[in-house]
Amino acid sequence: VAKGGGKGRWCRYQSELHTAIVQRLELRTALAEAVERRSFMVEYQPIVDLYSGVAAGFEALVRWHHPGRGLVPPDQFIALAEETGLIEQIGDWVLREAVAAAGRWRQDRDPSATPYVSVNVSARQLRAGGFVDRVRAALGAADVPPTLLMLEITESLLLRDDDQVWAELTELRTLGVRVAIDDFGTGFSSLSYLQQMPADVLKIDRSFTATVASSRRQLLLLEGIIRLAGTLSLDIIAEGVETEVVRTLLMDMGCALGQGYLFSRPLAEEDANRWGPERRSPAPIQRA
Ligand code: C2E
Ligand code: MG
Ligand code: MG
Ligand code: MG
Repeated sequence: VAKGGGKGRWCRYQSELHTAIVQRLELRTALAEAVERRSFMVEYQPIVDLYSGVAAGFEALVRWHHPGRGLVPPDQFIALAEETGLIEQIGDWVLREAVAAAGRWRQDRDPSATPYVSVNVSARQLRAGGFVDRVRAALGAADVPPTLLMLEITESLLLRDDDQVWAELTELRTLGVRVAIDDFGTGFSSLSYLQQMPADVLKIDRSFTATVASSRRQLLLLEGIIRLAGTLSLDIIAEGVETEVVRTLLMDMGCALGQGYLFSRPLAEEDANRWGPERRSPAPIQRA
């Protein structure tokens, strides 16, 4: 490996590798402990009607409360949780927690104005078996109708032709649960495939949204996707809306829903509940 670098370089390489392995093992142990102790929390980011600024729903995003490191973002532990299988327990906890939160929001509001909750689901959860029953149990325990739940599945997961996953999603949709294709635009769905997917909503990946203001090509592509979604009766949510310029471009293209720092970062449950119509985004006021 360290050819020509001499023995010193080889040793340094070995010691770095050693450190990485030890750190990984430590993280693994700590994550298993966190599952035992339920040291996680869920934050909620508003999914906003771009025209009115009202929250139509909230995406549930998990965080790990690490004793030494503070709040650890999901990008730093979800992959490990998937590898180790711990995602099954973490994911089930997030599902129950998020559905329970939707139940509490429901008590505080006019039933017709209750926002839905959208939960990220990983491949392993869907393949473990019994996922439909878990969802039913979570909804039943919190007395929440299936229509207030959306599940986010990544495009790459749906692209793997997996009969079990498709069957489960189809059954959930029959119950009234909605399915969103997350991070859309990062995989390579063919158009005919998209038409068959058991989904109700496309979430346009943030990498896509970020470039529409600066690239005409991206803009035209997105316009095409939005039109296609309309043809297939899929709703669209744009992720990563950070500026008014992007918000306006999206509205002009007929995209009605967006999510991003322009409106709000992910919030604690109580703050999400308070994030109502009275807390519109600043846009209409600034432009007046
Ligand atoms: P995602 O599902 O695509 O979620 C959107 C991510 O973008 C979130 O990051 C959110 O905080 C971030 N975000 C939202 N608006 C903006 C914006 O305007 N600008 C920028 N730069 N970022 C924005 P977060 O919370 O770190 O989550 C990262 C990923 O971790 C999620 O991506 C999702 O794939 C995964 N994840 C989160 N919670 C769960 C969970 O409970 N289960 C599973 N399986 N995966 C989860
Ligand atoms: Mg998501
Ligand atoms: Mg996403
Ligand atoms: Mg994304």
